[in-house]
Amino acid sequence: MVIIDGKKVANEIIQKIKQQTKELSSYDITPGLAVILVGDDTASRTYVNMKSERCKDVGIYSIVHEMPSSISQQKILDTINMMNQNENIDGILVQLPLPKHIDQNKILEAIKPSKDVDGFHPFNMGRLVANIDGFLPATPYGIMELFKRYDIELKGKNVCIVGASNIVGKPLASLMLNQFATVDICHIYTNDLKSHTLKADIVCVGAGVINLITEDMIKDETVVIDIGINKNKNGKLVGDVDFKNLSKKCSYITPVPGGVGPMTIAMLLKNTIKAAKINKGIK
Ligand code: NAD
Repeated sequence: MVIIDGKKVANEIIQKIKQQTKELSSYDITPGLAVILVGDDTASRTYVNMKSERCKDVGIYSIVHEMPSSISQQKILDTINMMNQNENIDGILVQLPLPKHIDQNKILEAIKPSKDVDGFHPFNMGRLVANIDGFLPATPYGIMELFKRYDIELKGKNVCIVGASNIVGKPLASLMLNQFATVDICHIYTNDLKSHTLKADIVCVGAGVINLITEDMIKDETVVIDIGINKNKNGKLVGDVDFKNLSKKCSYITPVPGGVGPMTIAMLLKNTIKAAKINKGIK
């Protein structure tokens, strides 16, 4: 069994990004990322701080627009429009979730597709489904990179994805389908989840439920990708799978923390460099 070291792969990617920002600085270009943070959700703030720190580490200029949870939708749209026109900003991301009175789709659709580094705009989602180059959402993109780095073949494999959100499960399913895997997507209303996971050569789980996948739910030599991030009752970060028991049975497994999580930030930075090159006309 191999424990997939997402931290190590992410660090390799980050080193490359540092080189690229150095190269871009010779053209007098500093890639810029604008983050919009609405409300005072602790987890969202932690993610935003992590993203800003990483940007600083690699030489990406970043700015955080903090707004109270009572902010109007129009004010958020105005800020996005301002960032769309700001030449120093190459990537724009809105930290999710947004307060209930805000129409998330309207907000995401307001981001200029060439600055949509989270890849959540329908323009980029459509390109992903059609297998045309665009911005890929960072978490599924990071998982695909792990498959590549660890030489895990997808063609012809049976995949079970547990969790069907727009930001994780659905884009991951399309990316794996584009690599000729046969993909089964499960969610909260799936009957007999175990009958699906047992058929799979690769199980990817992003549901946000501790111990959702147990040892009896996978066959021998399964590749297990744990996307979930949960805090257990002792305050420890854990994923969605019973890591201790599954790891005895599977061929590859991602730990939490240190698996998919670090890849997400690395791929966001990679997307920001790509956006800077597109927006500044650099090949
Ligand atoms: P979400 O709430 O939008 O979607 C959860 C999905 O899981 C839904 O499709 C739901 O139907 C399904 N689900 C929930 N309970 C289930 C159950 N008992 N059985 C089967 N399916 C079930 O969440 P999300 O934003 O997609 O995030 C999912 C998890 O992934 C969370 O733990 C989140 O913290 C984590 N996440 C991690 C990263 C990372 O970088 N590692 C990035 C994004 C999200």
